[in-house]
Amino acid sequence: MTGAIRILSEALCNQIAAGEVVERPASVVKELVENSLDAGAGKIAVTVENGGKSLIRVEDDGYGMGKDDLFLCLERHATSKLADEEGLFRLKTLGFRGEALPSIAAVSRMVLQSRLRDSMEGLALHLEGGQIKKTMAAGIPPGTSVEVRHLFFNIPVRKKFLKSDATEFAHIADFLFRIALSFPGVRFLLYHNGRTILNLARRQELSQRVRELLGNEVFGAMKALHERAADLELSGFVGAPDGHRATPASIYTYVNRRFVRDRLIQHAVMEGYRNLLPRQRYPVAVIFLYLPPEQVDVNVHPAKREVRFRRQREVHDFIAEALSVAWRQKFDPEEFTGGEEGNRSSTEPFLAGNSSGWNPQERSGGPPLAFESSAGYVPSSLPRGPNRQEGTASLFQACAREAPGPVSFMRILGQYRNSYIVCQDGDELVLVDQHAAHERVGFEKLKAQFREQQIDRQELLLPPVMGLEFAEAAALEEHREELGRLGFDAEPYGNRSCAIRAVPAILDPRQAETALKDVLAELTSLETGSSLDEALDRVLIRMACHGMVRANQALSLEEMKALLKEMERIDVNSHCPHGRPVMIRFGLGEIERMFQRR
Ligand code: ADP
Ligand code: MG
Repeated sequence: MTGAIRILSEALCNQIAAGEVVERPASVVKELVENSLDAGAGKIAVTVENGGKSLIRVEDDGYGMGKDDLFLCLERHATSKLADEEGLFRLKTLGFRGEALPSIAAVSRMVLQSRLRDSMEGLALHLEGGQIKKTMAAGIPPGTSVEVRHLFFNIPVRKKFLKSDATEFAHIADFLFRIALSFPGVRFLLYHNGRTILNLARRQELSQRVRELLGNEVFGAMKALHERAADLELSGFVGAPDGHRATPASIYTYVNRRFVRDRLIQHAVMEGYRNLLPRQRYPVAVIFLYLPPEQVDVNVHPAKREVRFRRQREVHDFIAEALSVAWRQKFDPEEFTGGEEGNRSSTEPFLAGNSSGWNPQERSGGPPLAFESSAGYVPSSLPRGPNRQEGTASLFQACAREAPGPVSFMRILGQYRNSYIVCQDGDELVLVDQHAAHERVGFEKLKAQFREQQIDRQELLLPPVMGLEFAEAAALEEHREELGRLGFDAEPYGNRSCAIRAVPAILDPRQAETALKDVLAELTSLETGSSLDEALDRVLIRMACHGMVRANQALSLEEMKALLKEMERIDVNSHCPHGRPVMIRFGLGEIERMFQRR
């Protein structure tokens, strides 16, 4: 097979590289905006049409490029940001691979214009599929403008994978949101189909930008953080535990100002909130970690979303400790002496003197932190029986074989630790996880109603108006119909907010906002691969969770009976929607064996 190996053409290489760098319109925006920031821009305007599929234009007032550089920047591995190998570990710029421009050019029609600050005029290059078609003088202000039209026009397969305009735009808006958080000193503008979506003034302070982007309400409940230990530094804002969300999307983390979605960091953040959040809920947080560039490798992911730390453990514990100090001081320590606490000894060294960074005065005058009222925790949609306090076994002896059917046929013996219903079924001892059971029942009910296109809904007398993030607003716009089928009626209301007019009947109306936010998060995360049906299943599970009785709730005999009765209708041997078992049986033989009677 000699002679079978060939060197690929430059054009093909660029297309292949584009496959890694340019995933969708948002990746183009990312690369171009990062270039503008690297060029010292004070103002960046992004214009998008049709979710970026037909047009993306990024204009900046940075230092621009001269004629030679303008041609050179389109070559592969042409960069002004990295001179030698050493430099790779001392990076201060966002870009360094010299791949973005040629990659984007290879899969689009591009007009690249630039003018140096002290030049009289600029130069424009017109390209198609990476080939320069035209060169001409350009009367533009100093800075650079890159226009990308008809992305993937020459790769139909890739084009087919793009999502709806709204979804693609949501990704772009989401990126701008994240980058704008980290560069408060830069003015950002974002236009979509002629509408102004973002218009952010230059700010002196990070806090001003955070407030502007996250909204007064969320920001008002945040705490400022500033911690330092040796060469690690952390600053940012962390959200109140009771403002928890369904997904980690609102944890914004940056390493040396580069946005990253890193598992180590996310784990550390969750560790910082340990025991403060309900299961599978996530905080809102904006966190900037600074460390010497040589301590972190940013060159491990094509889009640089992940990083690798030299001293992982140290970084992890530093973040976790910084965060836990922020929220725990106001806590009754009694409440948080759970067994898990013991694992935290590794973070101990950072406790010393660390509390100085954040300012407890920040919140004075504001409402007290209401952890007790953490909305997601103790909802109850069950009717309250008259004797819910009297959960003694003797009381239930009377209750025998009432309704027919395998489950409600069981004799209820009592409730164990306010979490499990203890029953006898013939010779068997049966434990029912009340929370899992209730969730399962609610889920099945919802599913059946959903199939029949009529989830019971309740109109809200005073429709709460809820602020939305970009992605949420986009999801609301795109999925109005599905939301309707799910029992929600949410009407877009002014700038990035909506009025919730109706919610599924199963929900406690007080949870309308949290539930809608969760559902929107689920709809937003609808990505390539997962079907709408799958996502809707997940949404139903979420809704079922919200409507459900939690563990740790005393139930009256009536309530227990009602729950068992409802279980008739479902497959009781199945699991709760999260995959946990609903009930467990112990045979007489098994019990006798335990007592060594056999
Ligand atoms: P990288 O950013 O990794 O260097 P790019 O392909 O994104 O690679 O850009 C190549 C080079 O083009 C950059 O190193 C920079 O010198 C120049 N360049 C790109 N965009 C701009 C811009 N908006 N303003 C000034 N120079 C730019
Ligand atoms: Mg770049």
